[in-house]
Amino acid sequence: MTEQNDQNQEQQDQSQEQQEVGLYEKLAKRTAELLEESKKTLDEAMKKAKEEVSKAGDFSSEQMDKVASYVRRDLTENANKASEAVMTTVDPHRMAAGVQSVFSRILTSTADALSDLAQKAEKNLEFKTGEVTSPGTLTCKDCGAEMHMKNTTRIPPCPKCHKTLFRKSY
Ligand SMILES: [Zn+2]
Repeated sequence: MTEQNDQNQEQQDQSQEQQEVGLYEKLAKRTAELLEESKKTLDEAMKKAKEEVSKAGDFSSEQMDKVASYVRRDLTENANKASEAVMTTVDPHRMAAGVQSVFSRILTSTADALSDLAQKAEKNLEFKTGEVTSPGTLTCKDCGAEMHMKNTTRIPPCPKCHKTLFRKSY
């Protein structure tokens, strides 16, 4: 491969990354709004958000499904944390302070919706290099190195050991 081709490939990767991060943020924001506005379940809210975002942009359905699964994972994990906070009677507003604004609104929404979400949430989910995720701390499953993400981002390899599997805390 020539140097020119390498450069083109790199630019393509970067624009795909930006596109997926942008799509993640649109879907997360709209899903959060729909959950907040109405009595929708997470599945209903995500379906509607996907429909709306599909109409407004040029995304393949594979890309949409992939990014939607990333959004869903972060939303359910956040709901899980929020319901734990309710159970231990921690002030949910204080709890929300460190969380990205879109998700913090979910943390403070109704207890019913939260327990509903939390029941469906899976614990100890695995995060992989190349996936898009919301702000939080990723811990390498191999060497324990931590990456602190301040923005929605595509997950890079571990900066220390270059492995690709992580746990996440919010
Ligand atoms: Zn590592």
